[in-house]
Amino acid sequence: MGSSSSSFPHRNIYLDVDGKVQKVVFSQHSSPCDIKELLCSSSNLPRNTAIKLINPEGAMVSIDATVPANSPNFLYKVVPLSTSQPPEREDMFQSLLTQVAEQFTRAFRINELKTEVTNRLAALEKRVEMEGLKVVEIEKCKNDLRKLRDEVTSRGGSSFTDEGKKVTPRRDVPTYPKYTLSQETIEALKKPTFDVWHWEHNEMLSCLEFMYHDLGLVKEFNMNPIILKRWLLAIQENYRDNPFHNFRHCFCVSQMMYGMIHLCSLQGKLTLTDLGILMTAAVCHDLDHPGYNNTYQINARTELAVRYNDISPLENHHCAVAFQILSLPECNIFANVDPETFRKIRQAIITLILATDMAKHGEILEGFKQKLDNFDFNNEEHVTCLKKVLIKCCDISNEVRPSEVAEPWVDCLLEEYFMQSDREKSEGLPVAPFMDRDKVTKPTAQIGFIKFVLIPMFETVMKLFPQIEEIMVQPLRDSRDHYEELKQLEDSMTEQSSFMSRLRKDLKSE
Ligand code: 5GP
Ligand code: MN
Repeated sequence: MGSSSSSFPHRNIYLDVDGKVQKVVFSQHSSPCDIKELLCSSSNLPRNTAIKLINPEGAMVSIDATVPANSPNFLYKVVPLSTSQPPEREDMFQSLLTQVAEQFTRAFRINELKTEVTNRLAALEKRVEMEGLKVVEIEKCKNDLRKLRDEVTSRGGSSFTDEGKKVTPRRDVPTYPKYTLSQETIEALKKPTFDVWHWEHNEMLSCLEFMYHDLGLVKEFNMNPIILKRWLLAIQENYRDNPFHNFRHCFCVSQMMYGMIHLCSLQGKLTLTDLGILMTAAVCHDLDHPGYNNTYQINARTELAVRYNDISPLENHHCAVAFQILSLPECNIFANVDPETFRKIRQAIITLILATDMAKHGEILEGFKQKLDNFDFNNEEHVTCLKKVLIKCCDISNEVRPSEVAEPWVDCLLEEYFMQSDREKSEGLPVAPFMDRDKVTKPTAQIGFIKFVLIPMFETVMKLFPQIEEIMVQPLRDSRDHYEELKQLEDSMTEQSSFMSRLRKDLKSE
């Protein structure tokens, strides 16, 4: 073999093929491609398999005619190139192509999915809009409730909304039990002698609810009875715990309105819409009263005064809160009223609540007096004047009530007045003498008010409804007399005490 190798230059190499020694012989003129094919076939691999040649130490051996000769003790191994190995350029290109194709397919699928999801979402949204509006509303209401509850907790129970937040009741209808009114209560409710101090909030709510049913307002406006209950709850919760301007004052004014409707037989003279306007304006007329009057609001330049440009800031606010509550579907007692009627009701309620600003007292009473000579219940303007005077009468009607019911209200009013005047003093604002704890007493507060405000107004109304004289005007006169007596007693006491102190002084100096 040695001699032949010199005439036919060739090379022997030994391979490990599946643990067996395989001898391969090739010409030194063979091309790398020939050698590669030879190695493949010797190793039982397809001819054009991509391979590498490795020596027992793991080193790569070049596959061409210069391949170093080896021995059966130092076997080379033919190894197919695995995918983990770096592919050659063509393979790399192929693999890249495959990857791009795969990614393209995936992207295409994702896009398809995206379109499908978008379409399904749109369809869902449309269904929610068309069929499920109520669900959305319920969720919104729940959110409002939650927010309000949180707000109330964080503010320690003070009720409202300077920030203009909505006014959903904190507790819902089932939490206050149906209070069955006795026949005695039902009868008493119609009269100014009704003891307004005897009842707690839930009972007053039931009384108000009863009035709406009894007057036929629930039927007339096709009210949902549950919404009526919830509306009343919202009303109660939006009165603050002021000494005077609180929910009990709201109840007094509404109960007096209910009483006057009966006493003056207004059911036969006004429409049910007018009665609904009168009752609802009475219920709403002092909503969210902060306990400080318009003068304070304006002088202290409060947010309310700025918002309403000093024009009846409180009354405008009471009214705005009233319609915020009515704007909640679950509290809208007028939800089933047609839009045109609602517009009229709203306008009329606004007019009545704004009429409760005592700054307009003279003007409103004069307007009414001018209509009295030929008052016409069919004349809308006349009726509007009457309604304004009626709500004003009810608003300031405490002194119409029996003295044991009326008197505690004076203490409440003075407590609120003093709270304001103390604050005005501390803030360096002007103080009205009738609010000053150093200048006012119960009799002085009441005598002037009864003589110059209450009696003239009720006597004017008496011209149209003579029946109020015995029930309403006479108690006013009695109260005036009572407070004048008290005043005399007070004056003589003051006189006596100043006489005594003078005497003491004189005795000391002697
Ligand atoms: P309101 O603020 O209740 O809407 O309007 C009525 C106003 O009239 C009260 O703020 C208060 O100043 C006055 N007022 C009502 N009742 C009485 C009363 O019995 N005595 C006195 N002195 N003023 C009253
Ligand atoms: Mn009032």
